[in-house]
Amino acid sequence: MIVLKSNDEIERIGDACRIVGGTIGALKGFVAEGVTTREIEKFAASVIDKNGGRAAFKGYRGFPGSVCTSVNDQVVHGIPSSRKLKEGDIISIDIGVFYKGFYGDAAITLPVGRVIEAAETLMRVTAEALDLGIDAARAGGRVSDISCAIQGHVEANGFSVVRTFVGHGIGKELHEEPQIPNYGRCGRGARLRAGMTLALEPMVNAGGSGVNVLDDGWTAVTADGSLSAHFEHTVAITEDEPRVLTEHV
Ligand code: MG
Repeated sequence: MIVLKSNDEIERIGDACRIVGGTIGALKGFVAEGVTTREIEKFAASVIDKNGGRAAFKGYRGFPGSVCTSVNDQVVHGIPSSRKLKEGDIISIDIGVFYKGFYGDAAITLPVGRVIEAAETLMRVTAEALDLGIDAARAGGRVSDISCAIQGHVEANGFSVVRTFVGHGIGKELHEEPQIPNYGRCGRGARLRAGMTLALEPMVNAGGSGVNVLDDGWTAVTADGSLSAHFEHTVAITEDEPRVLTEHV
């Protein structure tokens, strides 16, 4: 069942999302060569804590970290560790926050120092695909209008969308219906309505779409070793423009 939210509930989801966006904004100045992914986790957790939120991924189905940190060929669900970032790496950081009964969820891929042009392009195209997906999140449309907008842009640029993981509704639960694949033909699936709050999250591989999960049971990596990027926002569908709740600067 898809839960529609009242305006008041959307404001409260927005409060959780503001903490997510603020944390991502702060991370942009923290990610650097020599920093470990565990230091990134601690920093993010401290920002979330300072703002009265709770890191939603900690313990979720047993996930050991407060946030997900996925480097280079790691797609999503990377576990923070003693791994030190090197110049030329790209790192995807996924942040979920629980605040006063509601969840917010967003992700960004950041470069570490100077990165190769192919990595820049991958990040740009993934961010653009998210923007196009957001623009398709309009009342009266269908869930797969988002999917096909994302897939079309990614594939037009020669990259692949990951199919193993999908976007999702969000609210009082971290993962609600509907599932929102990043692929598929337009005009399918549930009708989009004002009051839906959705976490849209294209995961894009520079090579093929295949992924494997490492022996840690969490970290998803590209099957062909190619780079991967992940951008996510929590979005509210309204009667007019879609509203991004996890904005960051
Ligand atoms: Mg998500």
